[in-house]
Amino acid sequence: MSSQLRYCNGAYEGEPAQSARTWGMAAIVVLLTIPVLWLASSDPANAVQLGAGYLPLHSAMEIFSVAVAAMIFVLGWHNIGNRISCITLVFSAAFLAVGLLDLGHLLSLEGMPAFITPNSQSKGVFFWLAARLTGGLALLMAALLPWSLDIKVRLRYVALALAIGLVVLVYWLVLYHPRLLPVMFIDGQGLTSWKIQAEYAIAAIYLVAAWLLLRRLPDRKAAYLVMAAAIMAQSEVCFTFYRQPDDVSNIIGHIYKMIAYVYLYSALVVRNIKEPRQQLHWFQQSRQEQLEHDTLTGLPNRVLALQTLHGAIQDARRNQHSLAVLFLGIDQFKKVNMTFGHSVGDDVIQACVGRLSQVLSEDNVLARQTGDEFIILQRNILDKRQAALLAEGLLHRMRVPFHIQGHEILLSASIGIAVFPDDETNENGLLHKAHLAMSSVKKSTRNSYGFHTFDMEAGFRERLIMESTLHHAVDNGELALHYQPKVNFRTGAVVGVEALVRWEHPVLGLVPPANFIPLAEENGCIGAIGMWVLKEACKEAQQWSKQGLQRPRVSVNLSARQFQQRYLARHVQQVLHDTGLDPARLELEITESTVMQDIDAAVTILDSLKKLGVVLSIDDFGTGYSSLSSLKRFPLNVLKIDRSFIKDVTHDTHDAAITRAIIALARGLGMQVLAEGVETLEQAMFLQANGCDEMQGFYFSRPVLPVEIRDMLHAGALLGRVVNWRD
Ligand code: C2E
Ligand code: MG
Ligand code: MG
Repeated sequence: MSSQLRYCNGAYEGEPAQSARTWGMAAIVVLLTIPVLWLASSDPANAVQLGAGYLPLHSAMEIFSVAVAAMIFVLGWHNIGNRISCITLVFSAAFLAVGLLDLGHLLSLEGMPAFITPNSQSKGVFFWLAARLTGGLALLMAALLPWSLDIKVRLRYVALALAIGLVVLVYWLVLYHPRLLPVMFIDGQGLTSWKIQAEYAIAAIYLVAAWLLLRRLPDRKAAYLVMAAAIMAQSEVCFTFYRQPDDVSNIIGHIYKMIAYVYLYSALVVRNIKEPRQQLHWFQQSRQEQLEHDTLTGLPNRVLALQTLHGAIQDARRNQHSLAVLFLGIDQFKKVNMTFGHSVGDDVIQACVGRLSQVLSEDNVLARQTGDEFIILQRNILDKRQAALLAEGLLHRMRVPFHIQGHEILLSASIGIAVFPDDETNENGLLHKAHLAMSSVKKSTRNSYGFHTFDMEAGFRERLIMESTLHHAVDNGELALHYQPKVNFRTGAVVGVEALVRWEHPVLGLVPPANFIPLAEENGCIGAIGMWVLKEACKEAQQWSKQGLQRPRVSVNLSARQFQQRYLARHVQQVLHDTGLDPARLELEITESTVMQDIDAAVTILDSLKKLGVVLSIDDFGTGYSSLSSLKRFPLNVLKIDRSFIKDVTHDTHDAAITRAIIALARGLGMQVLAEGVETLEQAMFLQANGCDEMQGFYFSRPVLPVEIRDMLHAGALLGRVVNWRD
């Protein structure tokens, strides 16, 4: 998290200097009051006078004031955006007028060259009073108007016109109609009561403004304005004391005015320059944080995780330590969002962060990669087993049920681990390899962890190549069918052949279906591939008839997605029609898990296929979770026992018992039974002895090329090696 102080309402949150500044300013005001009191108590007749030095000093002081007033005008006038702060506009316009009036005052002073009309003390005083009154009213408005009030920037021209109008009016009165104005100074006598009362009235305006502005403390701008108003009031009081213009009270009054102007200018600099710049700075800082931190969890994001990892790798190199990167993905998190909505999903993610953090030590860093993926950096490890232990701890915490918004949610996670320096020596590589390892865990077991291995990369590279080329496999003629015979135990003859697809990839070589069929299911290519297989198998089987060969059934596998395709029966019918194959010679194999997904829908689909006259078989039986009561609803002809039971059927009593039970079940349901994956004579003998009808497996033949299957059919291949098969 940022250590940056938030700049707000003219001050930094928790800024320690706020009260110190207020007290400091109060002390300045008190100190500046001492000379005023001294002047008030001393006899003006004995006042120190500056004489000839007064005029240049006065000019310098007034030029300074005019320059500051001009800067205040410019500060406010240049505004970004189409709205302008009301206070800024008031000061900007008022101080344009103040500057011009102060200029009139400077030029009209007795002793200066005649400014349009002959100069006099009164002439200078009029300009002076007009300037002071304008400044005082501006401060009063600043005290009364809401500071958050912004107005259209176009209105600044109205304010400008008012300011210039005021200046023109004062200049016109003072230069051309001085008789309309009261006498302010009498040579030899000094100030008239008009002048003194006017000064007191203006001082009162400044004091009221200062008092009202006090309510806005501790805002830094308000503090500066209070100072400006208070010191201006003191300045005005000084101007009630002097007898001669070059008296010390007059000079002190001018000095106070300059100090007040500096405070006023500072207030505007804070408002118009420092605050916006500070806010911009803060905004940039926080933006840098949104860039480096995840908004939902506040955890470092991938960018920051990579930076941290970079530093950790350098340290590990120096200290000759190892470090591990654990890439954690929540299993099937999409389901949480789909079932309970994204708000629950967000809460789950936050709860996961809490859980994971409990397992981590100070040496570990937790970061969020994306939605449901986290990165854990484990520093200073000496052995891979430490990473495995941490992974186990994290997985254990994730398995405890979450209670979110009234729902109990069960989750698990998969973790991939990459270790520096064994797997990779740079941050991007480590993260990538941990990610690969996680994906590999997700694809296999889930709810587990795994270390990166170099085979994985080849596997993923292969998958990437397959993903980008599978779409063209059919069009490029890269698919081929191999056929595996099915033999009948009673007759020993080939009664069927199963069409098994292969992808002859130009780069990867012969790709087995287990590698690309799931991919085709994911990316939607399965429709085209399945159709090609069906057509090709039916065409080939029809050729055998034409060539006068044996006429076994040809079986085609249907994947889950193919099985759920609309108009499946219509497509099959079309292919049978196009190829002329007898429907009774086509067998469709559907896996047990596919038919069990949605039993009612499966019954409907199977019925529609059955009506075509094709043979239906249930593949890989025993591996899914069959509802036995549903099994009788399916119009199936053949049950294929999965090869996992056959593998150890001769020496595993459980497998033997299951196989016998499946055979009995099929018999009971009036189905034929075929055993898959028969590799040995002993397995074949066991199956035959237990009443299995057919077998398929390497013991008789591996899947072979079309030309080889044709030879087999031509020769009338028989299962000759099973003892007593003829009996
Ligand atoms: P499956 O339908 O159960 O096919 C049998 C698989 O077992 C074949 O693997 C075959 O080569 C293998 N096999 C046969 N006898 C033995 C044996 O004695 N020992 C061992 N170890 N294996 C044996 P294959 O050709 O790699 O096919 C794997 C799976 O891919 C098939 O399982 C099937 O589910 C799917 N598949 C194959 N071709 C297609 C297709 O055209 N479309 C669809 N949707 N899936 C297909
Ligand atoms: Mg099959
Ligand atoms: Mg099978």
